[in-house]
Order: sequence, then C-alpha cells, then structure tokens
Amino acid sequence: MSGSCPDHLNALQQVQLTANNLTLAGFSISGLATYLQVPELDVVFDLGECPLSAVPIDHVFLTHAHGDHARCVPRHWQLRRMLGNARPAIYFLPEAIREAYARLIAAEARFEDVAEDRITYPTLVGMVADGAPVELPHRKDLRVRAFPVHHSVPSLGYTILAHKKKLRPELHGLPGAEIARLRRAGEDVSIEVLDPLITFIGDCDGPSLLAQRHIWSSPILVIEATFLDAEERDLARLKLHTHLDEIVHALEVIGDDVTVEHLVLKHFSMRYPPAHVFAAVRAAIPARFADRVKILLSGPELDERAGARIDDV
Ligand SMILES: [Zn+2]
Ligand SMILES: [Zn+2]
Repeated sequence: MSGSCPDHLNALQQVQLTANNLTLAGFSISGLATYLQVPELDVVFDLGECPLSAVPIDHVFLTHAHGDHARCVPRHWQLRRMLGNARPAIYFLPEAIREAYARLIAAEARFEDVAEDRITYPTLVGMVADGAPVELPHRKDLRVRAFPVHHSVPSLGYTILAHKKKLRPELHGLPGAEIARLRRAGEDVSIEVLDPLITFIGDCDGPSLLAQRHIWSSPILVIEATFLDAEERDLARLKLHTHLDEIVHALEVIGDDVTVEHLVLKHFSMRYPPAHVFAAVRAAIPARFADRVKILLSGPELDERAGARIDDV
C-alpha cells in the first residue's frame, strides 16, 4: 500500500450499525484495530482503538492479548481520569492474561517516571471460560458469560445477557389476586431468567463456530471473517482465523436452528477493498440468511451502504 490511507482503514473513522434497537459503533480490520461500542448496554468489546466516544462506557471486554484488540486499556482509563469521570470503569479480560496486563500497566507508568509505590491500576476482572454469569457492576440488569474460542493465544467470546424475573411457569393462568396472596404469604412466585442480547467473538478459527453452537441462538452475533477468497483457506487455518467459507458451512450445518437476527461480520484482512468484501460476502452467504448479515465496514464509496443489508448492496 502506498500514498494516502483509504478511509476504510482509518481506525478513527467509526462505522455505525443498528440492530434490535442497539447501536453498534466501532471499527474492525485485522491487524489494525478492533473495538465495538454498544452504548445502550454500557459495554465496549475490545479496545484496539479508543476514540473519545468509548471513554464514557463503563464496561470493557477484552477478548485476547493481540495489540489490535487490547492495546488501549491504559488510554481509556487515563482519559476518563483526565476528563474528570470518577466512576471506575471495569475491564474484563481472560484470567490467563490478567497479571500480564497489570505488568504492562506498571511498565508504562515506570516509563512515564511514576515511582513504583505510586503506581495505580484499573480494575481488571479475570474471566474464565464457561464460568457462572457475572453481573455488570454498573448495570445490575445485565450479566456477561465468557466462553472459549480457539485462536493463536488464549481467547474468549462474550455474551451479554438480560437478567429478568419471570412468573414461575406453574403459576401461569392464576388470577393476579391469587399471585399477590402467594407473594404476601412469603412464597417466591418468580424465577430468574437470562436472555442473550449480543454475542461478540474477537478472533477465532472456523471450527470454534460449531464448537460453540450456542452462539447461533444469540439475537446479535458479531464474528470475524478475516479471509474471504478461495485460495486463502489454508492461510486462515494456519493463522487460526475464520474464513468466510467456514461461516457459510456453520450456517448450513446449524440450518433452521440459527435464530441469530443480525449476523455482523468484521475483522477483514486489510488487503481487501470494501467493494470486494461486500461482493464476496453477498456471493457466499446462502440466500435464506442474506437479509440477516451486516458488514462492519465503511469507505468513501460505500458510506451510505455501510451497514446495509448485503442484499441491498
Ligand atoms: Zn485480530
Ligand atoms: Zn488475534
């Protein structure tokens, strides 16, 4: 690449999509940067870049250690303090890299000549795969569940869940007065339910998409599609990234059980022009799923198409 940087490779140019009344705002190109803000849920997934719009968000979820996904935690944390936001942001990350991240923060502070005993740390919460759902500290109505995906380094996917109380099924159909009487009598009339809202995977190989079958019943699913072209299948396997053909394969295998309403593809190789991405995805995705697929990508020639359904393009 030479000369000026194409707009779709400018990590500060944010792409915005809407899905199920949620705003998905971010950027994701392999090797450059990945982050995705969902302001209505007060979450941002990955922080390979940190625009000012990410700073007010209180919950950050890092998927893995690669710099294009993880490098901006110190920037987010420092900008909040600089801008007078006293509310502590919470940084969730794989437990496998929590201590190493704390050392990175200490090394940066030492680099800036902060004395050892004056170094402070952001709140780093280590997440383990398939552990119990964790409440979001600033959003008591939400939980997060982490699950394992396979990549070249330890990597987690995250599902954000809405925590609700519902009437116990055996009480359905009872008159309201009777339910109120039971409640007054001290009976627990409700059960707790967790409904998935959005699932985000940073980087993973293709087989992870079938190993983690539950992802296909999340209403919004955000996954990587680093490689698109037929001759890049081996490269995708070697680099432990997903090839578009593997997404198509997963859709065909899961078939009618796919209840994803919005499948958002991201993290394309920087070598593809946007028009190539849109054309390759449109050509590969089976027709019956086409209207559910969105592409997190923009470019000067695609501005009004960014986030368009692929069959609109
Ligand atoms: Zn990546
Ligand atoms: Zn990676």
